[in-house]
Amino acid sequence: MSKGFLIDSHTHLDLYELNDQEKILKEMKISSVEALISVSFHLQSVKRNLDLARRDSRVKVAAGFHPEQRLPSDGELSNLQKFIQEHESEICAIGEVGLPFYLMRENSAITLSPYQELLEVFILQAKHLGKPINLHAVYEHAPIVCDLLEKHSVKNAHFHWFKGDVNTIKRVKDNGYFVSITPDVLYEEEIQQLVRLFPLEQLMVETDGPWQFEGIFKGRMTHPTWMHETIKKIAELKKQPASLVYKVIFEQTCAFYNLSTESTEI
Ligand SMILES: [Zn+2]
Repeated sequence: MSKGFLIDSHTHLDLYELNDQEKILKEMKISSVEALISVSFHLQSVKRNLDLARRDSRVKVAAGFHPEQRLPSDGELSNLQKFIQEHESEICAIGEVGLPFYLMRENSAITLSPYQELLEVFILQAKHLGKPINLHAVYEHAPIVCDLLEKHSVKNAHFHWFKGDVNTIKRVKDNGYFVSITPDVLYEEEIQQLVRLFPLEQLMVETDGPWQFEGIFKGRMTHPTWMHETIKKIAELKKQPASLVYKVIFEQTCAFYNLSTESTEI
């Protein structure tokens, strides 16, 4: 079976070691990876991603403030928002933004409401700029994020590495939002179940690199070529030909993020 084209819809290219960034960029072509959506942690991270994108146009920048960290000061937030506004033509999405599920699990002193307010600021900015939003919102935080998206009538929402109960899966699905599947679909029943329940027409693939995986990936640098394994597994779970899964996911990822890549231009 020939490999189709891929887009990594959520990675942190700026967080890889420089040598590893070079290796990934060099190996994209042979891996049939057409583009990477590199999401940002904070303003410095947006700037690093922009530098990467200016060097290599296959890197597409999502700009935001990752929720699993301390809150930004008012000054930091306004600088970030201003920077996004000024560079909006070089930014394909707002992200990574969302709610601090894992941080709150580790530290019970952290409260949700300021993070909710922060997320609302980014939802409004995404709406104002007409950009899609790349979200980190898992388990009981996902319905809260759905409330905010519905409140502001934001439709172009992508929940990365989504995890949630069947009711939330249904709500995310009915609202027309996208979810992206990580390489752990090879060994996590929870993610396999999500693939079974979610329509192919609302799926993307991602690595969340440099986050590391288990199973056959254990101890190895996370590489976008692993998404071929993800596609193969999705095809098996969906009982669809891999060629169709490649095509549907590639085309809808391009459309969602408004990307023109070499293979879409052919
Ligand atoms: Zn991430």
